[in-house]
Amino acid sequence: MLIKGQCHCGNIAFELTWEGDPPEIPARACGCSFCTKHGGVWTSNPRSRLAVVVRDPAHVSKYEFGTRTATFHVCSRCGTVPVVTCEIASRLYAVVNVNALENVEPSWLRRAAASFEGETVESRLARRQRNWIPDVRIRVA
Ligand SMILES: [Zn+2]
Repeated sequence: MLIKGQCHCGNIAFELTWEGDPPEIPARACGCSFCTKHGGVWTSNPRSRLAVVVRDPAHVSKYEFGTRTATFHVCSRCGTVPVVTCEIASRLYAVVNVNALENVEPSWLRRAAASFEGETVESRLARRQRNWIPDVRIRVA
C-alpha cells in the first residue's frame, strides 16, 4: 500500500510504498539521546521506496550529532522530525517517524525498543544498508 506521512504543518510530506494490506510496520523507539528527547519512533523497510516533498526548504533544519552519519530533517516551523537520511556510497537511505504517518492504523505497528549503543560506525552503516529504505527521493515542491 501507499503510506502517507507529513510533519504537523505539512512542510515536509512523504509517500512510502509498503508490502502487505494491511501492512506490518516495525516501530523502533530509539534509545539514543536525541530520540529520547523528542520521542522518535522509526520505521523502514529495505523493499520500500520513499518520496519526500518539501514545500519550503528554508524551514527544514538539518541536525546531526555523534557520529554525524545520520541527518535528522527537522521542520523548523512545527518542530516535527518526519525523516532521517544517511548517505552511504553515494546512495541515500532513510527511515521515517511512525508518529508522522497519516493513513496507518495503530494496530499495524509492531512496537519495540531499540538500542544501537556500542555499535562501530562500520557496523552501523552496514545495518542501515540492510534495513533502511534504499530508494529515497527528496524534491522541493
Ligand atoms: Zn512542519
